Amino acid sequence: MYNKLEHNVAIIIGGGIAGLLAARVLSGHFKQVLVIEKDKYPSQAGPRNGTPQANHVHILLIKGKEILLNLFPNIEQELVAKGAQIVNLTKDVDYYVGTGYSIKFDSNLTTIACTRQLLEHEIRNEISKFPNVNIHENTRATGLIIARDKDTGLSTCKGVTVYSADTNSEEAITGDLVVDTSGRESKIAEWLEQLGYDEPKKTVVNSYIGYSTCWFKPTFEQTAVGDVDDDNKPIIKPIIVLTNPPSNPYMGIIYPVEGSLWLVGILGIGKNYPPTDKQGFLEYTKKLETLDIYNTVEDFELSGPIYGYRTTGSRQYHYERMKSWPENFIAYGDSVSSFNPFYGQGITVACIEAVTLDKTLRAHKKRNRNLLGFSTIFQKKISKINTLPWLLGTSEDFRWPSTEGIKPDIFTRYIQKYSHRVLLITPNSKIAAKSFFEVMHMLRSPLILFHPFILIRIVIETLKGHTSK
Ligand SMILES: Cc1cc2nc3c(=O)[nH]c(=O)nc-3n(C[C@H](O)[C@H](O)[C@H](O)COP(=O)(O)OP(=O)(O)OC[C@H]3O[C@@H](n4cnc5c(N)ncnc54)[C@H](O)[C@@H]3O)c2cc1C
Repeated sequence: MYNKLEHNVAIIIGGGIAGLLAARVLSGHFKQVLVIEKDKYPSQAGPRNGTPQANHVHILLIKGKEILLNLFPNIEQELVAKGAQIVNLTKDVDYYVGTGYSIKFDSNLTTIACTRQLLEHEIRNEISKFPNVNIHENTRATGLIIARDKDTGLSTCKGVTVYSADTNSEEAITGDLVVDTSGRESKIAEWLEQLGYDEPKKTVVNSYIGYSTCWFKPTFEQTAVGDVDDDNKPIIKPIIVLTNPPSNPYMGIIYPVEGSLWLVGILGIGKNYPPTDKQGFLEYTKKLETLDIYNTVEDFELSGPIYGYRTTGSRQYHYERMKSWPENFIAYGDSVSSFNPFYGQGITVACIEAVTLDKTLRAHKKRNRNLLGFSTIFQKKISKINTLPWLLGTSEDFRWPSTEGIKPDIFTRYIQKYSHRVLLITPNSKIAAKSFFEVMHMLRSPLILFHPFILIRIVIETLKGHTSK
């Protein structure tokens, strides 16, 4: 346990998933943890302005699930009690990769399927069990408080200024560590520049992605994953249909959530934004590489509106490269790196980063009596964590000629192409399918994709013409 006398207050900007996870791990290191959240949370799982992405399908990768279960041992039980479903990714999901559906087999690759709204709500319920964590809702952080030591030149973050919508007033809140987890719209880069820091370097890759998602209620009674008909065939099943460059820029997904609902999403790359009216949406499900999603949902009843979302692409701030960076201030989650949602990595990366925050603080404590130097060490670790998910996310972006941004180097492009080849042989190779999913779910290193059996299989399938997509 950290010396709580030396480290009294941690302040977290943004109470989304990354911020709540920060609160969870910092509760073991600080006497008091304050989460500053600009929204008022809904009393039940539901939409809110600060997380517009939450209306869309969120797949919880298996690595993320494992970390969540470690941090909150009851969470799976609670989510399932509220209607979340357990999905086996290699047995229950039809995954169309361009050359066919990935081979299906039983495995321990299971995750929890629910809305991001329910997941965040349950994490918040779990956080409420930590008496030293307080959430200030309806309160927006408006800037950082930085103190500069004239003699040493050292600058230290001492807290944040906030605006409370409840009291219509501004105040300063001081603390020993400030964490920014305010998501894609984070103002940190701007605030630092205003305070006299250099403009942080950033990498942007824009493939002009648009999402449309509707929530459907099947017209039949049995709506759970695993329910079968008289012929032992699934009554309804999750389906993911990938894009097929350069001819088909649409990806589709049908995925179960709580409340007997299923989310159906269409993602279009290269400014091919899917529509948000029911007829138009259904027509677009016909544009996918297979008609299986259309055939599943054509008779379903819509539950609520069709939600649209247009991302500004993948964006990464390189705070670790800044010449000077405030002591006692760190940032992670979408605030630092927001990925192309294609591979569903954001929540899991936030989970890995929260665990890293805990471990880095513990290690720092062994050698130091204060937080001096901690923030720069942490930002370097965050940059390392982001490397792989960034490469995976942008590998999809750069398969489209309309994508704007700096292309990765030749070696990286080769790895990205090779990984795609592995994906294309997954309909015919169990080892390729298992390895690909383990890498995608951040359980194992991409090096396993270079297993000799997979290499041989790629050669065989290429000779048969099965990898030509
Ligand atoms: C369309 C789409 C689909 C996605 N699909 C997946 C998926 O399938 N799987 C997956 O793992 N990830 C997915 N993601 C990413 C995922 O949503 C995020 O990575 C994840 O929610 C973690 O985000 P975060 O907590 O860093 O930021 P956010 O969720 O954006 O939370 C930021 C919080 O900060 C608050 N805030 C902002 N500014 C201030 C301020 N000044 N003061 C106080 N509070 C503030 C906001 O209200 C919000 O609560 C998807 C993203 C998008 C856009």
